[in-house]
Amino acid sequence: DHVLTENDFVHQNNLRYPFEERGLQFGDGIYEVIRVYGGKYYLIDEHVERLYRSAEAVKIEVPYKKEEMYERLNQLLQQNKVESDAKVYLQITRGSAPRDHAFPLDTDANLYAYVKDLPRAIDKMWDGVETITQHDVRWDWCYIKSLNLLPNVLAKQAATEEGCYEAVLHKDGEVTECSSSNVYLVRNGKVYTHPAKKNILHGCVRMRIEEFCRQEGITFKEESFRIEDFQYANEVFLTSSTSEVMPILKVDELTIGNGEPGRITRRLQELYEEDAGISEDQ
Ligand code: PLP
Repeated sequence: DHVLTENDFVHQNNLRYPFEERGLQFGDGIYEVIRVYGGKYYLIDEHVERLYRSAEAVKIEVPYKKEEMYERLNQLLQQNKVESDAKVYLQITRGSAPRDHAFPLDTDANLYAYVKDLPRAIDKMWDGVETITQHDVRWDWCYIKSLNLLPNVLAKQAATEEGCYEAVLHKDGEVTECSSSNVYLVRNGKVYTHPAKKNILHGCVRMRIEEFCRQEGITFKEESFRIEDFQYANEVFLTSSTSEVMPILKVDELTIGNGEPGRITRRLQELYEEDAGISEDQ
């Protein structure tokens, strides 16, 4: 119930925003979603680094120095007595000013962060999920984790209405990522994913997947692939802080491989659990 703001902790019901708030009017802000397992942050450094990179890219000044950010984020878990699996949502907007596209340089950023329980999607990770494809109509700077999520929202909604878990996004047939996750194709024992260019979000879990592959001697190729390539895939999976490593069994009407989660996907799931310190009995 305790929400962290740029000044202090407030109860969620007492959170107030000015009517000319740039986050509300322009989506003028950035955010992070950080995973918590057993009351402890996972990949906190990666998320904090990306937050500051996003902020710099859009010229927003983060209200805290990095050191204080860590301190406050830890306090957020303590204040709310978090001991289970959860997620922390943190956003920073440019603040409030008379509405104008151009922004004054002296507005004070608004920050808020809260924590919510989030049980792991064990069943879906075991069974696998289905997806649809959608045109990636987003802008060129998707590496910035910005609050402008309308294309992502509409793509995920389309997937949901088809009874699917995610939308695989593509630009003229070239697969970029999903609406809120990164996507990978496995063929002949090699893992392919779109290069970490400016047109995708550089997922924190994606960074770990690269590392896991290195450890296991699995070739990790930052090489984009096309929608048509899914027919030759042995495995397909997606990753994110909330979905972890999720097997994809279908893309539109196409069944991937033999229609079951593959060996490499399973191995990466194990490595994720080890890395995140998730114990067997959880
Ligand atoms: N791609 C997009 C568009 C996302 O919104 C997300 C996260 O929500 C990801 C990828 C995965 O990023 P991460 O692994 O840091 O959660």
